[in-house]
Amino acid sequence: MLLLILGVREVYLFNRLKWNEPNYPTLKMLLLDAEQRDSLWKEVINTIESYISQISHQRVSPLIDTDKIKSIITSVNFDNEISPKSAIDFVADGLLNLQVHSSHPMYFGLFNPAPSTMGIYADALVAAFNPQLASWSHNPFAVEIELLLIRSFAARFGFDEKKSCGTFCSGGAEANHTALIAALVNKFPKINEKGLRSLKKHPVFYVSEQSHHSFVKAARFCGLGDVSVREIKTDENYCLNVNDLEMQIERDLKKDCAPFMVVATAGTTNSGAIDDIEKIAEISSKRKIWLHTDAAWGGAAILVPELQPFLRGIERSDSISFDAHKWLSVPMGAGIFLTRHPDILNRACRISTAYMPKESGEFGGYDFHLNSMQWSRRFIGLKVFLSLAVAGWVGYEKTIRYQTEMGNYLRQELEKNDWEIVNKTPLPIVCFRDAKNSRLGDKEFIEKIADEVVASGEAWISATRLSNATPVLRACVTNFRTQRCNIRQLVGLLNKIRRNLQNQTN
Ligand SMILES: *Cc1c(COP(=O)(O)O)cnc(C)c1O
Repeated sequence: MLLLILGVREVYLFNRLKWNEPNYPTLKMLLLDAEQRDSLWKEVINTIESYISQISHQRVSPLIDTDKIKSIITSVNFDNEISPKSAIDFVADGLLNLQVHSSHPMYFGLFNPAPSTMGIYADALVAAFNPQLASWSHNPFAVEIELLLIRSFAARFGFDEKKSCGTFCSGGAEANHTALIAALVNKFPKINEKGLRSLKKHPVFYVSEQSHHSFVKAARFCGLGDVSVREIKTDENYCLNVNDLEMQIERDLKKDCAPFMVVATAGTTNSGAIDDIEKIAEISSKRKIWLHTDAAWGGAAILVPELQPFLRGIERSDSISFDAHKWLSVPMGAGIFLTRHPDILNRACRISTAYMPKESGEFGGYDFHLNSMQWSRRFIGLKVFLSLAVAGWVGYEKTIRYQTEMGNYLRQELEKNDWEIVNKTPLPIVCFRDAKNSRLGDKEFIEKIADEVVASGEAWISATRLSNATPVLRACVTNFRTQRCNIRQLVGLLNKIRRNLQNQTN
């Protein structure tokens, strides 16, 4: 009954707003008037469209003048309001001129994508309709779409579609944090009530030294501290050394520690290394330890038949992190946590409140606030849904294969031009250094090259260190728009910078 009354009231209000807009001040400031909205929509759309169509004529990274940036920002003063048009112009200008453009085909950086156009529409629609996904009853349509996606991705990774569950989250870091919580609750069922201090043994978990640092943060947030993180050495391909893992578990068991999770990485951030998930799964199942696979970026390889063998064993994971905002090219903020234990999230997150709508379970629904870290929830899944619905699995298979080919082409071109490739991966991350002159392989030289590439505005790459502390250059094909000509341009630029630096030192 109450709902019915509210409904009628809202329809009434909506009609008033639409047909007879009153002009009391709050409304004018927050809703703006119809005429303004009309012209601002057009401006926003034109800004977005010209960004998309002209990005490749832009510098990849801005010329950074810290003082100038600070003075631009402090020119805004919230004591004096500005017009909506000048506010939008201010932001559009800042975003165009003062950021690294990961949408640029010459961006060979970290795993930041050029966003799919369907994903941009999705984020705009989500902002406007502002669905609340905390409980099923508020938004059954949106919740069911996310559940459909979760089951579909779970099935792709080889989980039983009917028995798996998961949640959308901000990204891989939150998904990894969620994995840690799930693994803890799984191993220590009483931990929610009794806390860590009730444990007789010290909980420890295992990652490779090339794993993502979000696990260290997650250990801190869970009150485990850095001492609980066992960093296992990697082999010559920067993959977790499975023998070392076994030995470390043995040692810990003897020392009164309680191993509760092991992490396999499918595509490390540094070099795209894929751990031997199958072997790690054998150890974890023998020891009854939760296996989490961090496939934030590399997981997309599961969509390409010829790349699937590299992820063999991933279906044996207890949970998986996967980021749609990396290789699936949706706008940022689209992590996915997947698990084949349908009740584990609920066991970790269940709580009862007086103020939330009645649990939706009785309608066959699913309440995300009882199954995830988040409470109020944005409809993250829509950008994945719209992109996937339009591209299809086949479309994604093609684009991932294409980018993989671009990675191979980059390796070829680099080798042809006397650069030495130092990592081994089927994924399009290339770590390299100057092949000819080992003296020039040093840290300073490598960093100088990366700095000069960035400063040129022509491309973006980075410098990193692999586990034996070798400084290397790192270039990753992250963009579905990157073509062979872009790769030749990058290698040409690298050659030019190397030549100049060599001339300077001679
Ligand atoms: C990017 C990445 C993360 C972190 O994910 P965010 O989406 O940045 O939070 C974790 N693990 C791996 C392997 C990654 O590549």
